[in-house]
Amino acid sequence: PIQEQVTMNRVIEETVDFLKNEAHYRNIEIRTTLDPDMPTTTSDSSQLQQVFLNILNNAIDAIGKNGVITISTGYDLKNRELSVSIADDGPGIPSEVLGRVFDPFFTTKEVGKGTGLGLSISYSIVEKLGGTIKVASQVGKGTTFSIHLPIVNHAT
Ligand code: ADP
Ligand code: MG
Repeated sequence: PIQEQVTMNRVIEETVDFLKNEAHYRNIEIRTTLDPDMPTTTSDSSQLQQVFLNILNNAIDAIGKNGVITISTGYDLKNRELSVSIADDGPGIPSEVLGRVFDPFFTTKEVGKGTGLGLSISYSIVEKLGGTIKVASQVGKGTTFSIHLPIVNHAT
């Protein structure tokens, strides 16, 4: 990956900007609660953008029409990590499916609509960047993806 000083909130805002027409068209509100004091970190913004785009596109697909996606950022200097969570109020993921969403080629979408690679690629990217990605979901309530990334090269 490219090593650069990444401003996480900016990466998120750029990704949201990219999807805003699609979201507007489907009456999906993308809310952001971005911590204004987020430290920068050495990472790869285009790879992170790909991760957020994959997760947000899945959330939009899951909602279909009329819903809310909430993106929150935060940080923990003691654990030296940044966190990003992306929550949707879509249909949720049944427990028998939840354990497979990061598997390569796993998809519940119709043939031609999903490759089943978005989340497996996202998982590999986050792992390569030294972080973790997790999913939690409740059928009928929604799904939340949580990403933790190390804070690198930040003097505290
Ligand atoms: P694809 O989008 O091509 O199906 P992904 O790897 O991006 O592949 O996602 C795998 C599967 O995980 C999806 O087919 C879907 O079943 C499930 N999934 C991912 N995100 C969500 C979400 N936000 N809500 C419900 N299901 C989801
Ligand atoms: Mg996908």
